Amino acid sequence: MTADMPYVIIGASLAGAKAAEALRDAGFDGPITLIGNENDRPYERPPLSKGYLLGSSERDVIYVHPLQWYADSGIDLRLGVEATSIDPAAHQVSLADGSTIGYAKLLIATGSSPRRLQVPGSDLDGVLSLRRVGDSDQIKKAFEEASRVVVIGAGWIGLETTAAARAAGADVTVLEMAELPLVRVLGPEVAQVFADLHTEHGVDLQFGVQVAEITGHDGKVTGVRLADGRTFEADTVIAAVGITPNTELATAAGLEIDNGVRVDAQLRSSDPDIYAAGDVANAYHPLLGRRIRVEHWANALNQPQTAARAMLGEDVSYDRMPYFFTDQYDLGMEYTGFVEPGGYSRVVFRGDKERREFVAFWLDQDDRVLAGMNVNVWDVTDAIRELVRGGQPVDAGKLADPAVPLDSLASS
Ligand SMILES: Cc1cc2nc3c(=O)[nH]c(=O)nc-3n(C[C@H](O)[C@H](O)[C@H](O)COP(=O)(O)OP(=O)(O)OC[C@H]3O[C@@H](n4cnc5c(N)ncnc54)[C@H](O)[C@@H]3O)c2cc1C
Repeated sequence: MTADMPYVIIGASLAGAKAAEALRDAGFDGPITLIGNENDRPYERPPLSKGYLLGSSERDVIYVHPLQWYADSGIDLRLGVEATSIDPAAHQVSLADGSTIGYAKLLIATGSSPRRLQVPGSDLDGVLSLRRVGDSDQIKKAFEEASRVVVIGAGWIGLETTAAARAAGADVTVLEMAELPLVRVLGPEVAQVFADLHTEHGVDLQFGVQVAEITGHDGKVTGVRLADGRTFEADTVIAAVGITPNTELATAAGLEIDNGVRVDAQLRSSDPDIYAAGDVANAYHPLLGRRIRVEHWANALNQPQTAARAMLGEDVSYDRMPYFFTDQYDLGMEYTGFVEPGGYSRVVFRGDKERREFVAFWLDQDDRVLAGMNVNVWDVTDAIRELVRGGQPVDAGKLADPAVPLDSLASS
């Protein structure tokens, strides 16, 4: 290994591009190589199920940087090429085009991929999933032509896609195994808000169901059959059954894997010269006192700053509270904090739940705020984050009272 070996980043999406930017911002002036297997330069995915899918945002808005930025910043951007292996002993990455690149430090930012449906008929024409910009283009076109859409999975992407299908005028059925949408993340009190929202927009929500088969004719989807024998006709089926982290390279390289690439609070893997950030990283969170893998935009935006500084030898750790957002119909929300499935004592609402203008707080048994979610209420995220980070018991009565400023509770 020589001193002028590049810092190499595998995965040219949000986390990868932000890591390259953060290395330059931190003053690193050595070579940086950013490798991505997509043909597009790094882009952000949230618009793919929202404005871009709805046709209200142009393609230009999705990109992380203008193309010229990479040249101007001295980033060797290699697109449309897969990294096929990592050799930690030789400090070398192999690419599908037969070339190899030596590295001084390596960042794995390979993200995640949609989980595949494990039922017969999943590969029929018209069964689509959403991860890349091309998927969003394909789904948009399908919605323009479809009259009946079945969405399998009532998670964030399933529900946002449902809203877009309704906006395009399709009849939509959502099939979900659990008893409510998003119930593992939100618990029943708040999950019901999302069930009501979609019901009011004319969506047929089917809970507690098991998909047995995607039916088809001449290679094209015709519907979905459930384990209980019921069938739902469809000319488009959206499979939105979660994602899995892209850990194949890291696994083959012998790195420790545990629901993603296992990294410490500095985002360093079991190999001291290899780091991971974004969807693929299962990172130790010092404030939460546990490892978490966050599949959200803000994590892919912010973790790379810590990774870059740690790669440059600084003593930093990543302790931001998880944050995510969604837009569905006329509901916009932000969520800050972290609650394990079922890991809260009660939910306190502040504001008008019926009108969907409220903040919900998840409290533990000592009335400490674990997470907060503002729905159609804005400019409260900083106060919610301070309440969560503070880790102090709060007065639940005051928390529920919109007349009491939230930041006064955070500092009390
Ligand atoms: C449709 C959609 C909507 C979303 N909406 C929201 C939202 O509203 N709010 C929110 O908080 N989050 C949202 N997210 C999640 C957010 O987009 C992700 O958390 C974020 O994209 C993660 O970024 P990443 O860079 O870690 O990984 P990714 O975006 O998955 O990027 C990883 C990149 O690495 C590439 N790659 C993988 N393996 C290799 C290899 N071997 N060689 C070369 N390249 C490789 C992949 O092709 C990909 O380009 C959404 C995601 C999707 C798909």
